[in-house]
Amino acid sequence: MSESPWTIVGQGLAGTCLAWEFWKRGEPFVLIDREHGGSSRVAAGLINPITGKNFEPSVNISAFLPEALEFYATVEQSLGKPLWHPLPVLRLADTEKEWNRMLSKLTRSDVTPWLAHDGAPIAVDGWIGAIELRGGGRFDTRSFIDGSREFFQRLGLYQAAEMRMDAPGAGRIWCEGAVGLMLGRYGPHRCAKGEILTLKAAGWDETHIRIGAGGWLVPLGGGLFKVGSTYEWNQLDETPTAAGRARVHEIAARLGGGHFEEIAHEAGIRPILRRSEPLIGPLAGGNWMFNGLGSKGSLYAPGIARRLTEWLIDGQAPEPALDFGNFRDGSAM
Ligand SMILES: Cc1cc2nc3c(=O)[nH]c(=O)nc-3n(C[C@H](O)[C@H](O)[C@H](O)COP(=O)(O)OP(=O)(O)OC[C@H]3O[C@@H](n4cnc5c(N)ncnc54)[C@H](O)[C@@H]3O)c2cc1C
Repeated sequence: MSESPWTIVGQGLAGTCLAWEFWKRGEPFVLIDREHGGSSRVAAGLINPITGKNFEPSVNISAFLPEALEFYATVEQSLGKPLWHPLPVLRLADTEKEWNRMLSKLTRSDVTPWLAHDGAPIAVDGWIGAIELRGGGRFDTRSFIDGSREFFQRLGLYQAAEMRMDAPGAGRIWCEGAVGLMLGRYGPHRCAKGEILTLKAAGWDETHIRIGAGGWLVPLGGGLFKVGSTYEWNQLDETPTAAGRARVHEIAARLGGGHFEEIAHEAGIRPILRRSEPLIGPLAGGNWMFNGLGSKGSLYAPGIARRLTEWLIDGQAPEPALDFGNFRDGSAM
């Protein structure tokens, strides 16, 4: 397929970020993708510093977010188009329990850096309360994937091709997302299907990403929004469903409002091995893996790609918790 010592298999966020790291260092590679499916093409690209029901900072966010933003700025320059759109996040509480949990964390030293207005509660009609967060935004994953593909194609560094999982050979860096996880290549997985809508609506708040009631609403500008998402662990395919649409409509109505026009309905599979904490490392036969970005590919892919590059090229191993070998052997959780 190629004469390069390295073949990066899969051009989602993982493979594309890795290709940029190789390219920046002048390391020869070829990037391949089978050109159908993939989670990065449907993702909203949201980065939210304090996430989930428990209102907790993402693991190591104070290291990974600045790295991601620096990476995005460099790629924006190379591609000549904006990809990162910073926006404050309005985290809305639906119940007293959730609100009290949020309030209880506002003085924590790993939470305060992300609070706008010193964490002062904001009153929003129809909600118990809200807190504004800073540092969040939207990374335009589809423009990143498409623009990077054209860029590397022009340089002869990209090929449309499917790599057989059992093909003999060394030097493959597997960035194949949920496809490989669902084949059990890395042991048990927790992949989750998600459905997402693109909507057009007039008069909705375009100044904040809104998160609450188990979903999110991300403004794209010009009255367009991404809204999602569902989590489904049993039916792992990329087909949008009527039930998924109905659930996302509920989220849209709660976070945005009643009237909207549906522009697109898509589904993807989040590659999950260990929550949304990715893993990297060597495989048998001189091959490597980079997988498990979960729901947080936009935040982690750039920093993890850099660590993997340093490991592969400089022999500098990353933090033990990122090493797939330790995870597989049960020594890193
Ligand atoms: C509905 C939804 C919404 C999401 N929203 C967000 C969000 O707001 N923010 C966020 O950070 N994350 C979000 N995510 C998660 C995000 O999509 C993932 O973290 C990330 O995209 C995973 O990237 P990846 O490169 O590992 O996998 P993928 O994007 O799936 O890429 C893998 C690629 O490898 C290719 N491939 C597989 N096997 C082969 C082979 N044998 N040969 C060649 N090519 C192959 C696939 O076709 C694919 O293109 C969302 C996910 C979903 C489903």
